[in-house]
Amino acid sequence: MSELRELYQQVILDHHKQPRNFKILDDANLKADGFNPLCGDRIHVTLRVEDGVVRDAAFKGAGCAISTASASMMTECLKGKTTEEAMKLFELFHDLLTGKTDPDPEVLGKLAAFYGVREFPVRVKCATLAWHTMKAALENDETPVATE
Ligand code: ZN
Repeated sequence: MSELRELYQQVILDHHKQPRNFKILDDANLKADGFNPLCGDRIHVTLRVEDGVVRDAAFKGAGCAISTASASMMTECLKGKTTEEAMKLFELFHDLLTGKTDPDPEVLGKLAAFYGVREFPVRVKCATLAWHTMKAALENDETPVATE
């Protein structure tokens, strides 16, 4: 597991240093804001959903390494998924971090990298902030999301 853990840490660091889809979509039709007061992470998620499929996803904001890397990987994972698949992925990711399931790289892909975060309960909110915010966007709920 230690080799895997190192690989996971590299993935998280890479996404922290070079966040993917770090922008605001001009043609977004869904959006939401999230805030994690415990850590100070702020995020703005924009999505373009057409015919029930996430065509594009992006985020902007300022947060710690975990929250930024999580948001970055989330936007990559969402593209091309149906909104149902996106919601399912939210549940799987949430279960992974709250210790309900073991990581299944076949289902979660790179997202399994966040497995180690479950050992740091305070960080779980950092890792799930983007996902809660994405869920609010999909549900068209523009009330800002707070993890507390
Ligand atoms: Zn954080």
